[in-house]
Amino acid sequence: MSPAIPFRRKPGNSPRQRGELALGELALIEEIRRRAAATNFKAAPARDVRLGIGDDCALLRLRGGEEIAVTTDLSIEGRHFRLDWHPPESVGHRALARGLSDLAAMGARPVAAFLSLAVPGKLAKGRRGQPSWTSRFLDGFLALAATHKTPLAGGDLAESPLALADIVLVGAVPRGRALLRSGARAGDLLYVTGSLGGARAGLARLAGLAEKSAGRVGIPKSLAGELAPHLYPQPRIPQGLWLQRLGSASAAIDISDGLSTDLTHLCEESHVAAEVDAARLPVHAGAALEQALHGGEDYELLFTAPAGAKIPRKMRRMVKRRAGHPLITLLTPNGPQPLERRGWEHFS
Ligand SMILES: [Mg+2]
Repeated sequence: MSPAIPFRRKPGNSPRQRGELALGELALIEEIRRRAAATNFKAAPARDVRLGIGDDCALLRLRGGEEIAVTTDLSIEGRHFRLDWHPPESVGHRALARGLSDLAAMGARPVAAFLSLAVPGKLAKGRRGQPSWTSRFLDGFLALAATHKTPLAGGDLAESPLALADIVLVGAVPRGRALLRSGARAGDLLYVTGSLGGARAGLARLAGLAEKSAGRVGIPKSLAGELAPHLYPQPRIPQGLWLQRLGSASAAIDISDGLSTDLTHLCEESHVAAEVDAARLPVHAGAALEQALHGGEDYELLFTAPAGAKIPRKMRRMVKRRAGHPLITLLTPNGPQPLERRGWEHFS
């Protein structure tokens, strides 16, 4: 990874062989550098970032007594987003939101973001005075970065047949105080921030719009609110920091792949099982129970805390793991049912 934009000119005979955006690459680099600087200045005093874009490496300097949290996320055209469905601002927002959500799940504060962007050449060029796809991608990315005071401190740029964004997020957390998946104990209560299923319901709505439209999906203003959980999910950075400072959460994970899948991860890492009360599940208005249980990309925090910790809205509790019993039990009016992991999985 070369964390500085502009990255050094890479060796090779032609721009194309070097994997660079032959036309307009320098202009794009200059745009990213200029806009990142403006956003970073507004976003934070950026005391953690001693040196950002412009050199071979970024230099970060953390406060005493902290440890570093690092996460990476790939967003790939056709897999995580579609050029004909998703506004470029949403693609930029979601790419960063995924990484920020991982920091939130650890109770880490964001320190810096690094963005490696590969796009077909045509997406880097604006047409007839209109901003380019990459420019609008940056609009979404930098707006969320500013909200969470996360400076863009470097990255890389290349031409590619597919659009993809690879982000690295660096965060910091007081030493030994990160929220982990592994600390839940039998008897702990189970919590989730916000509501579940909204992102999947929004995606279903978007797919419905796509079916009706030939080509690019136009998103009517009246649907902006309904689609927001999918297009512009809000990572729970303040809630993660709050939980970390409170010190009473025993385990935490962010819901990126769906409750059934992410709760399974938490159970496995903590060597416990879980009961979820269907009646207490915070299902997003307009979403179905199935979407709340298995739909991914809500980016809410799922966490556990011992009974007696002052946290509202428990969903149920963690229980001892027993051979022959399901890892997650859903308590419904018709009795308990095993909840199988049916969220998002790659290579499945
Ligand atoms: Mg995660």
